[in-house]
Amino acid sequence: MRLPPRSTIAFWGLLTSLIVVTFIRTDLRARPWVTTAESEPSTQEAAAVIVPLPAVAADKPAPSISVSQIRHQVADTLGRDGSIYLTLKSHALPELEIARLGQALAGVFDAQRETRPGDVIVMVLDSLRSVVSFEYTPFREPEMPVVIERVGDRLQARRDTIELTNRIWAIEVVIEDNLSNAIAEAGEGDALTDFVVDYVFGSVIDFHRDPRRGDRLGLVFTRRYLGSRFIRYGPVLLARYEGQVTSQLGIQYKDPIGIAEYYDANGTSLERLFLLKPMQFRRISSKFNRKRFHPILKRNMPHLGTDYAAAPGTDVWATARGLVTVAGRNGGYGKMVEIEHPNGYRTRYAHLSRILVRKGQRIRKRDLVGQVGSTGRATGPHLHYELIHNGSQIDPRSVNRGDEPRRLASSYREAFEQRKRYLASLLDDSRHAPPQVVADAARRPPAALTAP
Ligand SMILES: [Zn+2]
Repeated sequence: MRLPPRSTIAFWGLLTSLIVVTFIRTDLRARPWVTTAESEPSTQEAAAVIVPLPAVAADKPAPSISVSQIRHQVADTLGRDGSIYLTLKSHALPELEIARLGQALAGVFDAQRETRPGDVIVMVLDSLRSVVSFEYTPFREPEMPVVIERVGDRLQARRDTIELTNRIWAIEVVIEDNLSNAIAEAGEGDALTDFVVDYVFGSVIDFHRDPRRGDRLGLVFTRRYLGSRFIRYGPVLLARYEGQVTSQLGIQYKDPIGIAEYYDANGTSLERLFLLKPMQFRRISSKFNRKRFHPILKRNMPHLGTDYAAAPGTDVWATARGLVTVAGRNGGYGKMVEIEHPNGYRTRYAHLSRILVRKGQRIRKRDLVGQVGSTGRATGPHLHYELIHNGSQIDPRSVNRGDEPRRLASSYREAFEQRKRYLASLLDDSRHAPPQVVADAARRPPAALTAP
């Protein structure tokens, strides 16, 4: 049969498609193409994009299509087990190929620590199910994908870094019941609340005791995007708390040496020797009280500490730098850590489920010391926190009184004042139509406005 050239192309084109489709179909029947986590139904659509490679030349008789030249792309999302191995197995990759991938991956990625449900794998396979390319995108750090490519008969891995876009936002919230709800109502997440409570004002505002209904918090902060997807918060640049009991301004300023800290309007640092809380605060079940009816011993006895009720396993951090003097079991305290700090202070962290420091270890403020538990004489999981000054227990809320905070060097004052005015103007502008993007950090970066 003689066919004109155009028909030849059409004929071989059709045949190619048929072979590819048949190949894919057979495979689909043999194996579930995609194992999709229940929480990620959308990934099914992204799966099995077919990329037939050999193009048929028009002027020659069509070559026979080698099976190994048929390539296809597979996309999948790690399920609840968070296992790369099981995901690859579900796509019928041979054990040897999985091992080769694992080896290449290990050079740039700590699978044990870094894999999470929701991480995305996109790979191109040939028909022998050998990997042509493999891309792994962590759900939490999508800006740092792992890329593996076949070069000759070797797999080469690298870790890319895609720059996130910083956008500066400003909001102002009014507290009804608590700060966390007020921030949530403005459409922002808990991470922003934690940043303000634990970092910006961690040593100067007691968010248990001080907030009152009607207090206002204004924030200028950074949101980080990959394309149009919000990834995480960058630092808070300005926080202005205006309350009935306490008012405080915090301006982030990075001095030319590169140390970023929060300062008040006069250039006085908000850092103190102690943080007011030893963990990401949820609620305090029992405050410092010299007379309290003990729930287990059934008698009045002073409670010389603060109890923080929290889920077992919640991280506990050191409230100031110091030296670990006790790390182990101690009667009713259960598993306990004691730290010696400057100026005659000691702190105790009791009823822990896990201790993460050793006796004799030097630690910095905010280093993890253990996790919340209910060891020793405890009715439920909580942290018992004690602050001791010159041998006697004191109220943790009074710890920073008399502490002499650092002041910004006078040579930085002009730059600081400029930044303060600029950030305050962003917040004031936002009052007319909050919340909004008030500045595009990429487009207009004022000299002192680079995030750490
Ligand atoms: Zn207690």
